[in-house]
Amino acid sequence: MVGRDDVARWLADYAAVVHENAAELTELDRAIGDADHGSNMDRGFAAVAALDPSGFDDAAAYLKKAGMTLVSTVGGASGPLFGTFFLRLGGAWPAEDGDAAGLGAALRAGLDGILARGKAEVGDKTLVDALAPAVDAFDAAAGEGLGAALSAAAAAGAAGRDATVPLVARKGRASYLGERSAGHQDPGATSMALLLDSAARALPG
Ligand code: ADP
Ligand code: MG
Ligand code: MG
Repeated sequence: MVGRDDVARWLADYAAVVHENAAELTELDRAIGDADHGSNMDRGFAAVAALDPSGFDDAAAYLKKAGMTLVSTVGGASGPLFGTFFLRLGGAWPAEDGDAAGLGAALRAGLDGILARGKAEVGDKTLVDALAPAVDAFDAAAGEGLGAALSAAAAAGAAGRDATVPLVARKGRASYLGERSAGHQDPGATSMALLLDSAARALPG
């Protein structure tokens, strides 16, 4: 279903999207953080995009290496969190003949890794606010096939990103601002929504 070369298309697409949006991601982080989210993500995904997919036996090994690369090249909160996501995604990635439900289980393993590592809940104004509803939406649509599930996940992720605007941050640097964090879109939720959008575009329907 979704093999190594599909994953390579996804990661290359996302690296390009992050690069194009790096300035905007950094501006979002300037408002409620330390103005480095775009450069953090751009550095990490440039390193991921530089991996040679043909050096990996399968999608699972490739995704795990992508996760380790993010952990080692990106400092701050987002490196370990996106890194854990890809490590867990690779650890649970379905066999090539798997179905959409198998991919949903892998996405949920990625989410669970982020929750275990960062201890955020939905509503804390973090990337979890984009990813958690996306995984739920994926599962709900998985019976309609992979393309439908990925589209549903991307739409739910975008809605979750938008819903971070009025929230008061309770995790990460933005939480230091307290009530003053309200009225700003969370940078990590923005980059997570872009990742889901990229998956819907680059992975096979
Ligand atoms: P840093 O805050 O260390 O500079 P980044 O700017 O790269 O790291 O990433 C900030 C983003 O990380 C936030 O916008 C938020 O979405 C996410 N984040 C921060 N802390 C957590 C956490 N504990 N759990 C989930 N996501 C988090
Ligand atoms: Mg930052
Ligand atoms: Mg920082």
